[in-house]
Amino acid sequence: MDPAATQSSEQTIEQFQRYVIPNYVRYPISLVRGEGSYIWDAEGNRYLDLFPGWGCNILGHCPPRVVEAIQQQAAKLIHVPNTWHMEPQGQFAELLCTRSFGKAFFCNSGAEAVEAAIKLARLHSPEGRYKIITFENSFHGRTLAAVTATAQPKYHEGLGPLIAGFRYAPVNDLDAVAGLVDDETCGILIEPIQGEGGVNIPDAEFLPGLRRIADETGCLLIFDEVQTGMGRTGTWFGYQQWDVQPDIMTLAKGLAGGVACGALIARDEIAPSLRPGMHASTFGGNPLAMAAGIATVRTIEQEGLLENCRRMSERFREKLQSLQDELPIVSELRIRGLMIGIDLTIPAAPAVEKCLQRRLLVNATHDTVLRLLPALTVTEEQVDEGCAIIADVLRELAQEAETPTT
Ligand SMILES: *Cc1c(COP(=O)(O)O)cnc(C)c1O
Repeated sequence: MDPAATQSSEQTIEQFQRYVIPNYVRYPISLVRGEGSYIWDAEGNRYLDLFPGWGCNILGHCPPRVVEAIQQQAAKLIHVPNTWHMEPQGQFAELLCTRSFGKAFFCNSGAEAVEAAIKLARLHSPEGRYKIITFENSFHGRTLAAVTATAQPKYHEGLGPLIAGFRYAPVNDLDAVAGLVDDETCGILIEPIQGEGGVNIPDAEFLPGLRRIADETGCLLIFDEVQTGMGRTGTWFGYQQWDVQPDIMTLAKGLAGGVACGALIARDEIAPSLRPGMHASTFGGNPLAMAAGIATVRTIEQEGLLENCRRMSERFREKLQSLQDELPIVSELRIRGLMIGIDLTIPAAPAVEKCLQRRLLVNATHDTVLRLLPALTVTEEQVDEGCAIIADVLRELAQEAETPTT
């Protein structure tokens, strides 16, 4: 048993079966301890984690500066309500907004940040403008408004009636967007790079085109940067890759180095429309999460992690490129910083399963896409180790795909 474990994986699995609502498909493994890009299960097995915390652990597991900041803050003040000022919230807001724009509102998750963005877009617009354009294959979270914004029918099944006022457009089709915007539209909401939808990088002209449509029609451009923010793409925020500034941006996932935290950033002129009495989040901006967020920003800067992100991205690209040259089952590589999609001609789930058997954690999304969201702290050795396992696994699957089954 691992020294950090208090019970076996089997015992934990039994407890889940008895007491936890089974709304997730879980691997039959209980994780007990992590350090950087490695994680250990209750039995003491070590895994290389190239998908730490579903992208939330942007600095890997238990980054020392974040751990220390949480420990120190926990001994001072864990939670106070938003009827008071508190140092960590002001300081974290300053760190975020001086690296982006505007003013911040804090909440606890991505869906909550998207909810706040939808409410702000409606509140800021003249009476009667309420429609929001979102995009096919998007993902914005699971609350009713966020899931309505998520233009994927599989996430809507059985939930209706959904929230009124959402219109869906295909990505990379500016004419379609322009055709959907009318005098009741208040916002265009998009992930600069779709994550859940398969790591889809838009054409170079698309985001600037959306900015133009928003300006011409007086609606707000909202970027959901829950996955692309905090250095994931090699710049602080995804929008900086295109030099297109949104009016509103949502953040979560890596925002506080793995501690639950969400935020909305709004341009100074727009921010006051989220006025007292119209929106709130009880735990939003609590000192513990803020301390973790401050430590996350400082770690990224002090350890040169935007630079490391870009260097490791290139290393992944080289290794995966040669794999694509070798194997026809690798149909496309989609890489921006440490947001990596390997599109296959076969289902990706069996590849994830085979990687797990070799103690490598990766993810499958959108049926055929093998997805990696490595920590910004990932090392050359870890990139090489991970890519070697992926290469082995994909070679094996390529062979199986060729061999006719009788
Ligand atoms: C994960 C994600 C969300 C939802 O975040 P939660 O914290 O699960 O509510 C929203 N938008 C994007 C782009 C995401 O990747």
